[in-house]
Amino acid sequence: MRYGIIGDIHSNLEALDTVLKALEGEDLDQTICVGDIVGYGAYPSECLARIRELDVPSVAGNHDYAAVDMTSIEYFNPDARNATLWTREHLSAEDKDYLATLPLTMEFEDFVISHGTLHSPELFDYIQTVYDAHLSFQILETSICFLGHSHVPITFFDDDPISYFMEPEIPLSESEKLLVNVGSVGQPRDQDPRAAYAVYDTDDQIIWIKRLEYDIQSAAEKILEAGLPKMNAERLAHGR
Ligand code: ZN
Repeated sequence: MRYGIIGDIHSNLEALDTVLKALEGEDLDQTICVGDIVGYGAYPSECLARIRELDVPSVAGNHDYAAVDMTSIEYFNPDARNATLWTREHLSAEDKDYLATLPLTMEFEDFVISHGTLHSPELFDYIQTVYDAHLSFQILETSICFLGHSHVPITFFDDDPISYFMEPEIPLSESEKLLVNVGSVGQPRDQDPRAAYAVYDTDDQIIWIKRLEYDIQSAAEKILEAGLPKMNAERLAHGR
């Protein structure tokens, strides 16, 4: 099987369409989303439509739940909070019903997906340290957990001690478990502004993190035209 794994789309239709087009050429059996379809950008409803039309299974990100008031926005930064309030005004009843049904984790063949962590997905914490990784490895029963949330592609290996790297080519070995952050389609934060997504080939036992240029200027202009926070547009060009 070949899977495409996308996430942190954040209402960025230009980036999503660029990635979906590339995925068409990847000979995939299934595409899966690790959450945060909406938030920050100007096209929440359109991005949701793509995900639903293509039958892409998705878990909930904190921005997805925030848009339907299923998680608090008290701890969101002001630009994220304002974008959430804007997003709520620009979703249809159908969009909201869909977001409200997204689960926190999903299981597949030999992997699971969650947005922030596997050990407490409902808290939307980040895997920032090897200790955070340890907590998620403790309950990981399959070989891989794909994650998003930090918008930084990084892989943790369940070695002793736990190690990590940020390489785009991730070989698998039977003895190791992995936590793989696939990066962000619509708002990368690793200083590389290109859209990120992952391809997992179960036969070849390899995962690739791929990057694609997309029309950042257009995405940024739409954000400004919509009256969304300026920072949500400006950060796209810097990848942070
Ligand atoms: Zn996100």
